[in-house]
Amino acid sequence: MAEGLRLVLFGPPGAGKGTQTRLLSGHLKAQAISTGDIFRSNLEQKTPLGLRASEYMNQGILVPDEVTIDIVLDKVMSVHSDEGFILDGFPRNPFQAGALEQALVLRSRPLDLVIFIDVPEEELVKRLGGRLVCRNCQAPYTLAAAGQTETPAGERGKEKCGQCGGELYQRADDTPIAVTKRIEVYHDQTLPVLDFYQVRGLLAKVDGADTVQNVYNRVLKEIQRVSKTKDRE
Ligand code: AMP
Repeated sequence: MAEGLRLVLFGPPGAGKGTQTRLLSGHLKAQAISTGDIFRSNLEQKTPLGLRASEYMNQGILVPDEVTIDIVLDKVMSVHSDEGFILDGFPRNPFQAGALEQALVLRSRPLDLVIFIDVPEEELVKRLGGRLVCRNCQAPYTLAAAGQTETPAGERGKEKCGQCGGELYQRADDTPIAVTKRIEVYHDQTLPVLDFYQVRGLLAKVDGADTVQNVYNRVLKEIQRVSKTKDRE
């Protein structure tokens, strides 16, 4: 069996990385690894990791590397090479990118592609301010009627997830103050990761200011490009 693809979905908060990761992981049969989801499900279960991470998440700042990196690398390394993985929300600074690269190179399993989902800042603020997420499966929903067609069909007004029936809530870090901080952190600490992957020839940029389906089609096109190259190797 061919090796699974090893992808990173990169982009600012609210770019739609989680939504695209969910769609892709079903299609590619690759394991989705989302750092934000890992922290939030730990918080739901009130584990020490979840409680510690939430102190940082609620302020819109990064959870320290010494907490984050080991958790992610453990998950990445447990994925069978046939399966592949999609990282959502990691790496978020060049140090994390270096740690990931080192771990993958040791196993001769380098990344295949990093997809940068680009969305203008004013669109991000609008999306995050009007977002609800499912407590159970983390699917996002848009509060504003105008955005309803962009998200999976939820039961409006009942605040239940259309996919699993879970309760919808507003994330503590989707408040205006936390959103402003998250975008600032993205600019200062996360954007330099783009250069890290650019010089390695791994970066593909797609326009993310569009419907979920159109963005997904662009993402798939980039993946097909690398899949063909990989099949020939
Ligand atoms: P997300 O769900 O990707 O928007 O992440 C929510 C929050 O989780 C971020 O604002 C950070 O506080 C934390 N977080 C997620 N991924 C990372 C990471 N790779 N490094 C540090 N903190 C992270």
